[in-house]
Amino acid sequence: MIKTDYEGLNPEQKELLEEAAKAMETAYNPYSGFFVGAALRTNDGRIFTGSNVENAAHGSICAERSAIVRANAEGFRHFTAFAVIARSSEFDTTEATAPCGACRQMLFEFAQLGNTNLEAILSTTKKDLVILTSIEELLPLGFGPGDLGINLEKFR
Ligand code: ZN
Repeated sequence: MIKTDYEGLNPEQKELLEEAAKAMETAYNPYSGFFVGAALRTNDGRIFTGSNVENAAHGSICAERSAIVRANAEGFRHFTAFAVIARSSEFDTTEATAPCGACRQMLFEFAQLGNTNLEAILSTTKKDLVILTSIEELLPLGFGPGDLGINLEKFR
C-alpha cells in the first residue's frame, strides 16, 4: 500500500481517477446523500464507470459493482485497475474511500476471472490523499470460484 496524492499518480492512474470523479456526480442518492464514483480499466484500455444507486427499500448498489455490471453487459470482464472516490452532500472525505465488503468480493471474482490482481486507486474527494493498493491487499485470502471447484473458462 502506498499513500500519495493526485500529483503522485501516473497519467493512467490520473485518468482513471478523473473518470471516477465524473461518475461520482451521477450518484442517485436520495437516502444517504453520499456520492461515490468508480472507474474500471479493462485489459485493453477501455474505462467503464459507475456510481451508487439507492432505492426506498435500502437495497442499494455501490459504484464499484455498478461499474462491473455495466462493463459485463457490454461484454468486458477482464480488468486491470479500478479507482474509487466519494463525497458527501455535506462534506468532503478526509480518508480515502475503500470498497465495502460486498464490492471487494465481486472485484475479487473478476480478478480471478481475469487471472490477475487488480490495482486499486482510492482517493479522498480533493485527491490530497490517494492510496494505491490492490484487490489482493483489500481482500486477503479471498474466497473465490476456485474454492468451489468452479471452472471459469467459458466465462473468460
Ligand atoms: Zn460496495
